[in-house]
Amino acid sequence: MPVEAVIAAAREFLGDRITTNTALRDHHSHGQDTQPPVMPDAVAFIESTEEACRLMALCHAERVPVVPWGAGTSLEGHVTPVRGGITLDMSRMNNVLHVSQPDMDCRVQAGVTREQLNVHLRDMGLFFPVDPGTSACTIGGMSATRASGTNAVRYGTMRDNVMGLTVVMPDGKLIRTGGRVRKSSSGYDLTRLFVGSEGTLGIITEIQLRLHGIPEAVSSATCQFNTLRDAVETVISILQLGIPVARMELLDEVQMAACIAYSKLEGLAALPTLFFEFHGTEAGVAEQASQAEELALGNDGLGFAWAAEASARAKLWQARHDAYWAALAWKPGHKSIATDAIVPISRLNEAILGAKEDISASGLTAPIVGHVGDGNFHTVIMVPPEPDGMARAWELDKKIVARALALGGSCSGEHGVGIGKREFLEQEHGAEALTVMRAVKQALDPRGVMNPGKIFLN
Ligand SMILES: Cc1cc2nc3c(=O)[nH]c(=O)nc-3n(C[C@H](O)[C@H](O)[C@H](O)COP(=O)(O)OP(=O)(O)OC[C@H]3O[C@@H](n4cnc5c(N)ncnc54)[C@H](O)[C@@H]3O)c2cc1C
Repeated sequence: MPVEAVIAAAREFLGDRITTNTALRDHHSHGQDTQPPVMPDAVAFIESTEEACRLMALCHAERVPVVPWGAGTSLEGHVTPVRGGITLDMSRMNNVLHVSQPDMDCRVQAGVTREQLNVHLRDMGLFFPVDPGTSACTIGGMSATRASGTNAVRYGTMRDNVMGLTVVMPDGKLIRTGGRVRKSSSGYDLTRLFVGSEGTLGIITEIQLRLHGIPEAVSSATCQFNTLRDAVETVISILQLGIPVARMELLDEVQMAACIAYSKLEGLAALPTLFFEFHGTEAGVAEQASQAEELALGNDGLGFAWAAEASARAKLWQARHDAYWAALAWKPGHKSIATDAIVPISRLNEAILGAKEDISASGLTAPIVGHVGDGNFHTVIMVPPEPDGMARAWELDKKIVARALALGGSCSGEHGVGIGKREFLEQEHGAEALTVMRAVKQALDPRGVMNPGKIFLN
């Protein structure tokens, strides 16, 4: 069996860091999603780029599938090894290699988590802004899914903050992409090709990142509304006026009820709510906040409640990051599917209010929470523990995606395609563009060893 030959050969340089232990294979059989789990034949814990090269060369020679694994927090079946093979766990490649304060950049190994990086940077007055809802995720996984988070409205996504990569290609050869300069017109942009490639084109082992200065002043506030429409209109006005908010998140009344209960939020009602954060100088923050508040009041907002102290701010944003877990706790015994639709800002109300109608017609519970500053919102569809529960949830998911596409949007703002969103790609990009994507995959991975069964339907 080729996979057994690979495991035996890899043992010579990985020792017991390549394992067929059932508990470890089971742990690596799925991400944070509802796709059916599949166990890999083995899990390899590599510690260097050189080990990744050697392992990839073996797998390529024997045509054994390889699934890169960061922390397994992805939401669309990305890390499920649907064709078995070796799961390559990057968690031991977790060194911050270099930080340059003057250039405000750094180089990290792929298994560094976003939380680890920010702890490392804190005393240097710098931070890395991209913040998916779970602190466990790795910079490698975030690069591979083109992740974003609550700060993207101001600081951009992984697409904007990854400057360069070290990548082990499917045949084991090594390439470096990009560099440390703020812009370059030199050749094809391979960095952007690998950012968002979901482990289907190569193993990212090192990442060069853009960093940002910790702002002098930070202020957070919430504003509640009687209607979702008013909340979304406020978002649109703020963006159209160019107020540089750092964070602007929407939670509908169902999500607020779940968060109030889960995170013990005080002074807030189960109403549609915007969470804001403003970054800048003291004067700049005050000006941004007063402009945003004025616009909110003009849309019948119920006034700003400030979280000025660091501890109050931390509690507020932890509650936002815990929204997914709050939804699960709200409906015990349910699983969940998170939609990830994104639309042009001006179509946000049509998309969200339409989603609300779909949810109501489905009879399911589905809180809405979203990075509305980017036009991106998640519907956390709670899957009831009934025989047709999953089918009903997927039907609702499809309706929400179909509307987003009809409004000129995308099926995924940040989670990626994995297994769960494959069926929407042709509709979103068109058959010809999908043919080009397949040609890229074929050219870089002709033996189809890298994370097979993802992004493309077959
Ligand atoms: C509660 C919760 C909230 C979330 N909120 C957000 C959010 O706000 N924004 C957001 O963008 N996402 C969010 N996510 C999804 C998830 O956290 C992101 O997709 C994250 O980027 C995945 O990182 P990871 O390290 O866990 O990667 P994994 O799940 O391990 O892997 C993800 C994909 O990347 C590939 N991969 C991993 N490492 C590498 C590597 N070194 N080289 C090549 N390919 C690699 C894998 O093969 C897989 O295809 C959330 C998830 C949860 C559970």
